[in-house]
Amino acid sequence: MSNRLQATPNDLRAFWMPFTANRQFKKDPRMLVAAKDMHFTAADGRQILDGTAGLWCVNAGHCRPRITEAISQQAGELDYAPAFQMGHPKAFELANRLIDIAPDNMGHVLFTNSGSESVDTALKVALAYQRAKGEGSRFRLIGRERGYHGVNFGGISVGGIVPNRKMFGTLLTGVDHLPHTHLPEKNAFTRGVPEHGADLADELNRIIALHDASTIAAVIVEPVAGSTGVLIPPQGYLKRLREICTQHGILLIFDEVITGFGRLGSAFGADHFDVKPDIMITAKGLTNGVVPMGAVFVTPEIHDAFMHGPENLIEFFHGYTYSGNPLAAAAALATLETYKEEQLFERANELAPYWQDALHSLKDCRNVIDIRNIGLVGAIELEPIAGQPTKRAFDCFLRAWEKGCLIRTTGDIIALSPPLIVEKGQIDQLVDTLRDVLQEVD
Ligand code: PMP
Repeated sequence: MSNRLQATPNDLRAFWMPFTANRQFKKDPRMLVAAKDMHFTAADGRQILDGTAGLWCVNAGHCRPRITEAISQQAGELDYAPAFQMGHPKAFELANRLIDIAPDNMGHVLFTNSGSESVDTALKVALAYQRAKGEGSRFRLIGRERGYHGVNFGGISVGGIVPNRKMFGTLLTGVDHLPHTHLPEKNAFTRGVPEHGADLADELNRIIALHDASTIAAVIVEPVAGSTGVLIPPQGYLKRLREICTQHGILLIFDEVITGFGRLGSAFGADHFDVKPDIMITAKGLTNGVVPMGAVFVTPEIHDAFMHGPENLIEFFHGYTYSGNPLAAAAALATLETYKEEQLFERANELAPYWQDALHSLKDCRNVIDIRNIGLVGAIELEPIAGQPTKRAFDCFLRAWEKGCLIRTTGDIIALSPPLIVEKGQIDQLVDTLRDVLQEVD
């Protein structure tokens, strides 16, 4: 007898879903069938307020006609173009537009299809750059505890999320981790950037003393660690990291997959914190999440280190079948146009104080042990139930869904990051729903 699954349109077994409690989901599925602006439509017809911009990516809101029309027009005109030894105009146009809005030390862009691919691309650029400069002894990479850098092997190696690492047995060698910057005993309930902890950057000096700077290629951090619960760097921390890296010839990589494209109220986290990295990783908001795409920004110094030798030789042995894909490039161009025309980064900045007050109004709710916010992102941390980590926040997630709001949870932390088109009334709805939910959950 065949053991093939009976694949009916609503048989849920064949799709092994990512980062999902599959058995729980398939008993009680939460299905999304349509979306518009700030809302999803659930399969039962309910409107669900999107409190998380999908997975931190739909910054301009859902099904924006300018973006969807750009994609369909592109699909009818040039559906695909080989990415190697061939080009198409939109990829070049997009690279130029990205450099226009990037920190002014950035000069070139490599295209990928996701945040994870962008991370591994950036790490490979860093290692290859050190070798191209004649500093091949610099093979070490420094990540940070509680960092999330996607799921590819480079990313989980420099990342600091224990379950994402320990399932697989093998990782890149030569990786060290800085301590995370979450200091609840000193910084709990800080509004915006926390005061204490800049000295944690000095741990980099300890790692340098241990291994010698001549062995270290790059340090990679998220300006704000998103996926592990919106951990905002203490005042002065990123500047300090920058200084130490510069002093020792170590590249500083910012993973801006979440902080890029307006989430903090400026184009990039680098702008918000006024710290320039050598390499900047993006994805998500680049195309408003609509077509998979990532972009890795590098300085002219890094790019130029590869541009020597015979002209007909390939300079960098890396790339993807879909690097700079025409549909993705069209989506990204239309997305950037939308951000600009609707001034969505400025809007996020203007709404940030309202967002901050709304979130912090939950301070006295049951089980809340910390609230954090910056730009249009925030987190509410709950006291874990002894022996049942993640349960309390997951219960909140399920109840919020029942009440018509999509939130995200990571461990015992509720993370929120609405599309940048959110209205004040919708912020109120989100926060009022959470207030009710927190009241109901034990
Ligand atoms: N880096 C960071 C900082 C992220 O937040 C994410 C995704 N949440 C990634 C990398 C991975 O992106 P993707 O899921 O597109 O591979």
